Amino acid sequence: MSFTLLAGRPVADALLESLKADVKKLDPKLVVVQVGDDPASASYINQKLKSCSAVGMRHQHMHLSDSTTLPELMKTIDDLNKDADVTGFIVQLPLPKQLQPHVPDVIKAIDPKKDIDGFGAYNIGKMFLSVEFEHLPPATPSGVIEMLKFYNIAIEGKHAVVVGRSNIVGKPLAVMLLNRGATVTVCHSKTKNLAEITRQADILCAAVGSAKMITKDMVKPGAVIIDIGVSRVDGKLCGDIDFDAVSTVASAITPVPGGVGPLTVASLIRNCVTAKKRQLAA
Ligand code: NDP
Repeated sequence: MSFTLLAGRPVADALLESLKADVKKLDPKLVVVQVGDDPASASYINQKLKSCSAVGMRHQHMHLSDSTTLPELMKTIDDLNKDADVTGFIVQLPLPKQLQPHVPDVIKAIDPKKDIDGFGAYNIGKMFLSVEFEHLPPATPSGVIEMLKFYNIAIEGKHAVVVGRSNIVGKPLAVMLLNRGATVTVCHSKTKNLAEITRQADILCAAVGSAKMITKDMVKPGAVIIDIGVSRVDGKLCGDIDFDAVSTVASAITPVPGGVGPLTVASLIRNCVTAKKRQLAA
């Protein structure tokens, strides 16, 4: 079966292009707070800042030391919450090990109006109401929805299976698909007979972080496959889907890298523009 490669770059470029006029008019500012020197974070932050430059958005990279304490980080967050010039900010995860147990407190401390990662309870909770209340959705699920829209893949009436139930990817993605009329099944590490469920999917989204765990026999012929997972195998990025084998039965499939990744960044930039619009309207 021939398949459509769901490349993320053209989707991200189109989304970024569509934001330029608003960026010029509204002049939002995005701040990335990095604590410590996690190498993967450095690369993600670089991509975010590059995309800010690409759309002409003001941005700032605040790099705090690895030994930052919780009160110091909370003070930084408080300052950013109060700074009227800052539209939105993110605290890049993961945090150094002394701070990692406090991630829920850190997320909670971010003003919901500036929470452009959309990880806080207020923005997550609003998503449950309906599509109209998805004002600041988490960037990765939002990117997946944008991908499906760009490639004209219908969601309504489809059975979507989401593997992974994290608060920042799997769960919000399931809600966004549900809001758009899909019948959604969410699987996780305790799910029994995973393959039996994934084989029922018209749209199969994998957000686990386990290289090539979704094999060809777990996929219904003609299914749309969205690979969100990222692992490193022999120094190379690898998704949750066994791409070579699954692409022989899928109707459409995202590559890793070059699939959902660029859209996560573009969706974050869109959230910053949305945040500015909502702040001005308040
Ligand atoms: P988490 O580790 O928070 O969640 C992983 C999920 O996978 C959990 O819900 C876990 O279940 C589930 N899981 C683990 N093992 C299995 C299994 N054998 N069968 C079924 N489910 C399983 O990760 P995130 O949600 O933060 O991220 C998921 C992946 O997406 C990662 O690889 C991450 O790097 C990638 N990612 C990619 C982005 C992009 O832009 N491309 C952005 C964000 C993340 P349980 O809850 O039961 O433990």
